[in-house]
Amino acid sequence: MMNQYQGKRQYMVDTQIVARGIKDRRVIEAMLKVPRHLFLDEALRPQAYDDNPLPIGEKQTISQPYIVALMSETLHLKGTEKVLEIGTGSGYQCAILAELADQIYTIERIPSIAKRARKIFDQLNYSNVIINIGDGTLGWKQHSPYDGIIVTAASPRPPKPLLEQLAKGGRLVIPIGDEFSQNLSVFTRNDNDDLTEESYGGCRFVKLIGQHGWRE
Ligand code: SAM
Repeated sequence: MMNQYQGKRQYMVDTQIVARGIKDRRVIEAMLKVPRHLFLDEALRPQAYDDNPLPIGEKQTISQPYIVALMSETLHLKGTEKVLEIGTGSGYQCAILAELADQIYTIERIPSIAKRARKIFDQLNYSNVIINIGDGTLGWKQHSPYDGIIVTAASPRPPKPLLEQLAKGGRLVIPIGDEFSQNLSVFTRNDNDDLTEESYGGCRFVKLIGQHGWRE
């Protein structure tokens, strides 16, 4: 029998994800599987499957479900990839990626937020996620190159270290713009090392704060 949250999750996927054009079957399955409510404080759980971002403390947010699905789809993951996420936040986007790729490295700059995310990854047995605290605009050179890099905070430009840490054929998805509105951009490193950029429309994220993002 479906529990209360499974029913809400199915409704979220039908009305917000599939109805808006997400087609990647693996992304849809991951959105159906990951218990989004567990990434939120108890008081907010009843709203977990609503069509909007929600607060996670420290003036940060868990992204809207559709944006999580869209960003995940743009990475074209098949299951064998190494992915870097900047901005762990609640850990929800990271859990979706952990369902879609082989190994996820994720960086969060606020220690209390990172600590909470680590706890939920442990509870849900996401053993293919490694989290680090620090400035993600510098990337994580030690494990590079990455098949996919996802930045879940808004940046004035793509941070140079992240472009440098992309594998050939790898894709970087990142909201680019000012602090009030951004465009979701995907940069692809082609086999001849050229970069191409595609745009996936408007979005609004909190600021990416760091050496290659915004100053605090
Ligand atoms: N992916 C998250 C989720 O699923 O809940 C949403 C992330 S929230 C919109 C943005 C996060 O990026 C915040 O937790 C913020 O602290 C973090 N952040 C901002 N600048 C950062 C940086 N330079 N390095 C790492 N994390 C950063």
